[in-house]
Amino acid sequence: MPIDDGLIGGIRVSRLRRSEAADEVPNDNEAFQASTLDALLRGELRGDLTIGELLQQGDLGLGTLNLLDGELIVVDGEALVARVDGTVERVPDDARTPFAVVCPFTAERECAISAVDGFDAVTAVVDELAPPDAACVAVRIDARIAWAHLRSVAKQTQASPTLAAAVAAQVEFDIGETDATVVGFRFPRDAAGLELPGWHLHLVTADRSAGGHLLDLGVLEGRITIERQTELTVQVPAGVDVGRAGADARRDAALDEMERGR
Ligand SMILES: [Zn+2]
Repeated sequence: MPIDDGLIGGIRVSRLRRSEAADEVPNDNEAFQASTLDALLRGELRGDLTIGELLQQGDLGLGTLNLLDGELIVVDGEALVARVDGTVERVPDDARTPFAVVCPFTAERECAISAVDGFDAVTAVVDELAPPDAACVAVRIDARIAWAHLRSVAKQTQASPTLAAAVAAQVEFDIGETDATVVGFRFPRDAAGLELPGWHLHLVTADRSAGGHLLDLGVLEGRITIERQTELTVQVPAGVDVGRAGADARRDAALDEMERGR
């Protein structure tokens, strides 16, 4: 049985041991997460959840693989990984993840998007579409993009690298005009220990040849679909706390460096 941790930033969060994960059948508005961002930032880079198990919990999402071996993109029930050079491969079911979040995605609201330039401007269009009371939102954008600035990361050789080593292993790159799919989530500020607060998006090209963690983009035209997530089930490794909610300036600075390239 999942342990109910109550509301964190407006999302009902419960936690689960790995042995219980296989028995859980996700509800439509329920996201599933492997471990927490805090654990990843503390250098816990090896998880025990397999990609096959992760895909039983959802068909859209993102994360990384053990030892930060690239950026994980889950789209249409398929797990893809963007390598450090930006090329994309299919992930075998027996690969494992130290951090990922997925949901069974059903479009709840949708709208068109056209000629919008910049990450903040694009996510502002998605924010407008989201119900005002939705704490957590899953999004999928299928679009012709003008350009995108992406990031991926090289596999770590040590199990617990310093934050500086992990940041040094990150590579940023650009792609030009193409058809692409963007997937991800908006988490509330109070979910900072669990997840990246605000928008966390990964992109893959329509031909599945390139992708990564999305730092910036320009959209020419496309379609946005969203679904609110009212529950989050977190599968926690032993010794990892859930729900250390609230502001933490040092962690926020580390997150900005790790995830936003700022
Ligand atoms: Zn990411």
